[in-house]
Amino acid sequence: MEVPLVEIFSSVQGEGKYVGCRQVFVRFADCNLRCRYCDTNFECRGQWQLNDLIVEIERLMAEVPTHSISLTGGEPLLHWGVINELARRLSGTKIFLETNGTLVDELERVIDVIDIVSMDVKLPHSIGRDVFEDHRRFMSTARRKDLYVKVVLDGETTVEEFDRAVEVIGSVSRDILLILQPVTVVEGIRAVPSSDLLKFQARALRHLSDVRVIPQTHRLIDVP
Ligand code: SF4
Repeated sequence: MEVPLVEIFSSVQGEGKYVGCRQVFVRFADCNLRCRYCDTNFECRGQWQLNDLIVEIERLMAEVPTHSISLTGGEPLLHWGVINELARRLSGTKIFLETNGTLVDELERVIDVIDIVSMDVKLPHSIGRDVFEDHRRFMSTARRKDLYVKVVLDGETTVEEFDRAVEVIGSVSRDILLILQPVTVVEGIRAVPSSDLLKFQARALRHLSDVRVIPQTHRLIDVP
């Protein structure tokens, strides 16, 4: 089985609920979205044989005790067949899925082998369309596991789309952890003002039980 990869490395998780945990990151190629703030290169840099990938993961895990394997991208669920096979071969290792939360059918094919789901909720202004209904269905399946969701906030985020995102999350469960992540500024993207960050958190806390503001910490300490 061939696996289209961008890179594989050991580092700390820089975002969300498990920030600071040591992980092996397997970055799959390709994505089904084109977010305006995307700072990830998801072009394929090589086809790996599955066996070679497992050997490399095990080598990295032997070097440093590791919390989990982060399957990231791009969008890793485009490669759901590989995910199933990887998890089967790495039985006993925690599998952490970083996903844009839109590929519902693909999630259903792998959910049994996933331990933690870190899901983005995409706001319409950032991807040019509304995928809230996909997100609702995705969360309904993902909440069988350890699920948390992230919303990236930038200077163009509107109250209307933010409230809609909170309503969709709350309609699945008010106890889903929501991380508000201020955008890391790249060319053409405006930062969210700090005062707005606090207002967005206050709005979400009226409907959800746990809402945290956490920036991309790996950028602060300059690790991949
Ligand atoms: S879903 Fe993630 S990888 Fe894909 S375009 Fe958006 S930010 Fe980039």
